[in-house]
Amino acid sequence: MLDVQNLRKAYDGLEVLKGISFSLKKGETKVLIGPSGSGKSTLLRCINYLTVPDAGCIKLNNAEVLDGNIDSMRAKMGFVFQDFNLFSHLTVLDNIRICQMKVKGKDKHSATERAHQELMRVGLADKSNAYPAELSGGQQQRVSIARALAMDPDVLLFDEPTSALDPELTGEVTRVMQQLAKDGMTMVVVTHEMNFARQAADEIIFMEHGNIVEQGSPESMFNESTHERTRAFLNVIA
Ligand code: ADP
Ligand code: MG
Repeated sequence: MLDVQNLRKAYDGLEVLKGISFSLKKGETKVLIGPSGSGKSTLLRCINYLTVPDAGCIKLNNAEVLDGNIDSMRAKMGFVFQDFNLFSHLTVLDNIRICQMKVKGKDKHSATERAHQELMRVGLADKSNAYPAELSGGQQQRVSIARALAMDPDVLLFDEPTSALDPELTGEVTRVMQQLAKDGMTMVVVTHEMNFARQAADEIIFMEHGNIVEQGSPESMFNESTHERTRAFLNVIA
Protein backbone atom coordinates (compact mmCIF):
# COMPACT_ATOMS: atom_id res chain seq x y z
CA MET A 1 0.00 0.00 0.00
CA LEU A 2 2.79 2.43 0.94
CA ASP A 3 6.25 2.05 -0.53
CA VAL A 4 9.14 4.32 0.39
CA GLN A 5 12.35 3.90 -1.58
CA ASN A 6 15.72 5.48 -0.91
CA LEU A 7 14.35 8.66 0.59
CA ARG A 8 16.90 11.41 1.15
CA LYS A 9 16.68 14.81 2.74
CA ALA A 10 19.31 17.32 3.80
CA TYR A 11 19.00 20.68 5.56
CA ASP A 12 21.84 23.08 4.78
CA GLY A 13 24.16 20.25 3.88
CA LEU A 14 23.23 18.20 6.93
CA GLU A 15 21.84 14.84 5.83
CA VAL A 16 18.81 14.06 7.93
CA LEU A 17 17.51 11.12 5.88
CA LYS A 18 20.22 9.03 4.26
CA GLY A 19 18.32 6.72 1.96
CA ILE A 20 15.35 5.31 3.84
CA SER A 21 13.39 2.40 2.39
CA PHE A 22 10.48 0.50 3.82
CA SER A 23 7.05 -0.62 2.80
CA LEU A 24 3.73 -1.18 4.38
CA LYS A 25 1.03 -3.64 3.42
CA LYS A 26 -2.63 -2.87 3.77
CA GLY A 27 -3.67 -3.30 7.38
CA GLU A 28 -0.14 -3.20 8.76
CA THR A 29 1.02 -1.04 11.64
CA LYS A 30 4.66 0.01 11.71
CA VAL A 31 6.07 1.76 14.73
CA LEU A 32 9.02 4.05 14.15
CA ILE A 33 11.34 4.58 17.10
CA GLY A 34 14.68 6.26 17.62
CA PRO A 35 16.45 9.01 19.51
CA SER A 36 15.47 12.64 19.17
CA GLY A 37 16.91 14.13 16.01
CA SER A 38 17.20 10.80 14.20
CA GLY A 39 14.88 11.97 11.40
CA LYS A 40 11.55 10.38 12.35
CA SER A 41 9.43 13.50 11.91
CA THR A 42 11.22 14.42 8.71
CA LEU A 43 10.50 10.96 7.34
CA LEU A 44 6.78 11.18 8.13
CA ARG A 45 6.59 14.71 6.72
CA CYS A 46 8.34 13.65 3.52
CA ILE A 47 5.87 10.82 3.02
CA ASN A 48 3.07 13.29 2.45
CA TYR A 49 5.23 16.13 1.13
CA LEU A 50 4.76 18.47 4.07
CA THR A 51 8.54 18.45 3.57
CA VAL A 52 9.76 17.92 0.03
CA PRO A 53 12.35 15.13 -0.15
CA ASP A 54 15.60 15.65 -2.09
CA ALA A 55 15.54 12.21 -3.64
CA GLY A 56 13.73 8.91 -3.51
CA CYS A 57 10.33 7.64 -4.36
CA ILE A 58 7.09 7.34 -2.42
CA LYS A 59 4.25 5.27 -3.77
CA LEU A 60 0.78 4.95 -2.40
CA ASN A 61 -1.19 2.12 -3.99
CA ASN A 62 1.42 1.98 -6.74
CA ALA A 63 0.94 5.63 -7.66
CA GLU A 64 3.94 7.86 -7.13
CA VAL A 65 3.48 10.82 -4.82
CA LEU A 66 4.64 13.87 -6.75
CA ASP A 67 4.42 17.64 -6.57
CA GLY A 68 1.78 17.57 -9.27
CA ASN A 69 -0.67 15.27 -7.50
CA ILE A 70 0.06 16.09 -3.90
CA ASP A 71 -3.41 17.37 -3.01
CA SER A 72 -5.16 14.20 -4.08
CA MET A 73 -2.45 12.01 -2.54
CA ARG A 74 -2.48 13.91 0.72
CA ALA A 75 -6.21 13.40 1.00
CA LYS A 76 -5.48 9.67 1.19
CA MET A 77 -3.00 10.08 4.04
CA GLY A 78 -4.22 11.16 7.44
CA PHE A 79 -1.71 12.95 9.65
CA VAL A 80 -2.02 13.12 13.42
CA PHE A 81 0.36 15.62 15.04
CA GLN A 82 1.85 15.81 18.48
CA ASP A 83 0.04 19.08 19.20
CA PHE A 84 -3.37 18.04 17.77
CA ASN A 85 -3.61 20.90 15.23
CA LEU A 86 -7.32 21.46 15.76
CA PHE A 87 -8.93 24.75 14.72
CA SER A 88 -9.51 26.48 18.05
CA HIS A 89 -12.33 28.69 16.77
CA LEU A 90 -14.36 25.73 15.49
CA THR A 91 -16.39 23.19 17.44
CA VAL A 92 -15.43 19.54 17.45
CA LEU A 93 -18.12 18.82 14.90
CA ASP A 94 -16.95 21.60 12.56
CA ASN A 95 -13.33 20.52 12.93
CA ILE A 96 -14.32 17.10 11.64
CA ARG A 97 -16.71 18.36 8.97
CA ILE A 98 -14.61 21.06 7.37
CA CYS A 99 -12.03 18.87 5.60
CA GLN A 100 -14.66 16.45 4.41
CA MET A 101 -16.59 19.31 2.85
CA LYS A 102 -13.65 21.36 1.52
CA VAL A 103 -11.37 18.59 0.34
CA LYS A 104 -13.80 15.79 -0.45
CA GLY A 105 -16.69 18.00 -1.51
CA LYS A 106 -19.13 16.21 0.77
CA ASP A 107 -22.42 17.86 1.62
CA LYS A 108 -23.07 19.00 5.15
CA HIS A 109 -25.48 16.21 5.98
CA SER A 110 -23.18 13.36 5.05
CA ALA A 111 -20.16 15.10 6.62
CA THR A 112 -22.13 15.47 9.84
CA GLU A 113 -23.21 11.88 9.81
CA ARG A 114 -19.66 10.69 9.29
CA ALA A 115 -18.35 13.03 12.01
CA HIS A 116 -20.78 11.56 14.54
CA GLN A 117 -19.80 8.06 13.51
CA GLU A 118 -16.09 8.74 14.04
CA LEU A 119 -16.69 10.58 17.31
CA MET A 120 -18.49 7.50 18.53
CA ARG A 121 -15.54 5.37 17.49
CA VAL A 122 -13.11 7.45 19.57
CA GLY A 123 -15.48 7.62 22.53
CA LEU A 124 -16.48 11.27 22.23
CA ALA A 125 -20.06 11.08 20.99
CA ASP A 126 -21.14 13.66 23.56
CA LYS A 127 -18.52 16.30 22.70
CA SER A 128 -19.56 17.40 19.23
CA ASN A 129 -20.52 20.93 20.29
CA ALA A 130 -17.50 21.57 22.50
CA TYR A 131 -14.59 23.78 21.49
CA PRO A 132 -11.06 22.34 21.64
CA ALA A 133 -10.14 24.48 24.66
CA GLU A 134 -12.97 22.85 26.62
CA LEU A 135 -11.43 19.41 26.16
CA SER A 136 -8.50 17.63 27.79
CA GLY A 137 -5.42 16.97 25.69
CA GLY A 138 -6.37 13.32 25.36
CA GLN A 139 -9.83 14.26 24.14
CA GLN A 140 -8.40 16.77 21.69
CA GLN A 141 -6.09 14.16 20.26
CA ARG A 142 -8.99 11.74 19.89
CA VAL A 143 -10.90 14.44 17.97
CA SER A 144 -7.87 14.83 15.74
CA ILE A 145 -7.89 11.07 15.11
CA ALA A 146 -11.63 11.17 14.36
CA ARG A 147 -11.02 14.01 11.91
CA ALA A 148 -8.35 12.00 10.12
CA LEU A 149 -10.55 8.89 10.01
CA ALA A 150 -13.49 10.82 8.55
CA MET A 151 -11.39 11.41 5.43
CA ASP A 152 -11.27 7.68 4.65
CA PRO A 153 -7.47 7.60 4.51
CA ASP A 154 -5.57 4.71 3.00
CA VAL A 155 -2.87 5.23 5.58
CA LEU A 156 -2.63 7.15 8.86
CA LEU A 157 0.63 8.79 9.93
CA PHE A 158 1.09 9.61 13.62
CA ASP A 159 3.94 11.78 14.87
CA GLU A 160 4.34 11.28 18.62
CA PRO A 161 0.60 11.55 19.22
CA THR A 162 0.89 11.24 23.00
CA SER A 163 4.06 13.22 23.67
CA ALA A 164 2.19 16.39 24.61
CA LEU A 165 -0.09 14.54 27.03
CA ASP A 166 0.09 13.94 30.75
CA PRO A 167 0.83 10.28 31.40
CA GLU A 168 -2.69 9.56 32.66
CA LEU A 169 -4.15 10.76 29.36
CA THR A 170 -1.82 8.74 27.16
CA GLY A 171 -3.74 5.52 27.62
CA GLU A 172 -7.04 6.82 26.28
CA VAL A 173 -5.28 7.75 23.02
CA THR A 174 -3.16 4.62 22.65
CA ARG A 175 -6.24 2.48 23.31
CA VAL A 176 -8.03 4.13 20.39
CA MET A 177 -4.96 3.60 18.20
CA GLN A 178 -4.66 -0.01 19.27
CA GLN A 179 -8.27 -0.61 18.31
CA LEU A 180 -7.61 0.98 14.91
CA ALA A 181 -4.67 -1.34 14.38
CA LYS A 182 -6.89 -4.27 15.29
CA ASP A 183 -9.59 -3.05 12.91
CA GLY A 184 -7.11 -3.23 10.05
CA MET A 185 -6.15 0.42 9.60
CA THR A 186 -2.79 0.92 7.88
CA MET A 187 -0.59 3.07 10.09
CA VAL A 188 2.90 4.45 10.59
CA VAL A 189 3.34 5.57 14.19
CA VAL A 190 6.27 7.48 15.65
CA THR A 191 6.07 6.96 19.39
CA HIS A 192 7.99 6.32 22.59
CA GLU A 193 5.10 4.28 24.00
CA MET A 194 6.68 0.87 24.07
CA ASN A 195 3.59 -0.86 25.42
CA PHE A 196 1.71 0.33 22.37
CA ALA A 197 4.58 -0.79 20.14
CA ARG A 198 4.62 -4.26 21.70
CA GLN A 199 0.89 -4.74 21.38
CA ALA A 200 0.01 -3.01 18.12
CA ALA A 201 3.06 -3.09 15.87
CA ASP A 202 3.44 -5.66 13.15
CA GLU A 203 6.94 -4.36 12.80
CA ILE A 204 9.17 -1.89 14.61
CA ILE A 205 11.69 0.24 12.77
CA PHE A 206 14.62 1.66 14.73
CA MET A 207 16.15 4.78 13.21
CA GLU A 208 19.31 6.63 14.11
CA HIS A 209 21.20 9.46 12.37
CA GLY A 210 18.93 9.30 9.33
CA ASN A 211 19.33 5.57 8.76
CA ILE A 212 17.21 2.55 9.54
CA VAL A 213 19.44 0.59 11.90
CA GLU A 214 17.19 -2.41 12.33
CA GLN A 215 13.60 -3.51 11.79
CA GLY A 216 11.66 -6.51 12.93
CA SER A 217 8.73 -7.87 14.90
CA PRO A 218 8.21 -6.54 18.43
CA GLU A 219 9.37 -9.87 19.88
CA SER A 220 12.58 -9.89 17.89
CA MET A 221 13.33 -6.24 18.59
CA PHE A 222 12.60 -6.36 22.31
CA ASN A 223 13.92 -9.81 23.09
CA GLU A 224 16.43 -10.87 20.49
CA SER A 225 18.02 -7.78 19.04
CA THR A 226 21.74 -8.28 18.65
CA HIS A 227 22.19 -4.75 17.52
CA GLU A 228 24.04 -2.81 20.15
CA ARG A 229 22.41 0.55 19.28
CA THR A 230 18.90 -0.88 19.35
CA ARG A 231 19.52 -2.55 22.69
CA ALA A 232 21.03 0.58 24.18
CA PHE A 233 18.04 2.65 23.03
CA LEU A 234 15.46 0.16 24.25
CA ASN A 235 17.22 -0.23 27.58
CA VAL A 236 16.82 3.46 28.21
CA ILE A 237 13.27 3.79 26.96
CA ALA A 238 11.47 0.51 27.64
P1 ADP B 1 13.08 13.37 15.17
O1 ADP B 1 11.65 13.53 14.80
O2 ADP B 1 13.57 11.96 15.07
O3 ADP B 1 13.40 13.95 16.52
P2 ADP B 1 13.57 15.33 13.10
O4 ADP B 1 13.16 14.70 11.82
O5 ADP B 1 12.66 16.31 13.71
O6 ADP B 1 13.97 14.18 14.13
O7 ADP B 1 14.95 16.07 12.89
C1 ADP B 1 16.08 15.44 12.33
C2 ADP B 1 17.18 16.48 12.14
O8 ADP B 1 16.78 17.43 11.16
C3 ADP B 1 17.51 17.26 13.39
O9 ADP B 1 18.90 17.47 13.41
C4 ADP B 1 16.78 18.56 13.18
O10 ADP B 1 17.43 19.62 13.83
C5 ADP B 1 16.85 18.74 11.67
N1 ADP B 1 15.70 19.48 11.12
C6 ADP B 1 14.41 19.09 11.17
N2 ADP B 1 13.61 19.99 10.56
C7 ADP B 1 14.42 20.96 10.11
C8 ADP B 1 14.20 22.18 9.39
N3 ADP B 1 12.97 22.54 8.99
N4 ADP B 1 15.28 22.95 9.10
C9 ADP B 1 16.52 22.58 9.47
N5 ADP B 1 16.80 21.44 10.14
C10 ADP B 1 15.77 20.65 10.47
MG1 MG C 1 10.03 14.24 15.83
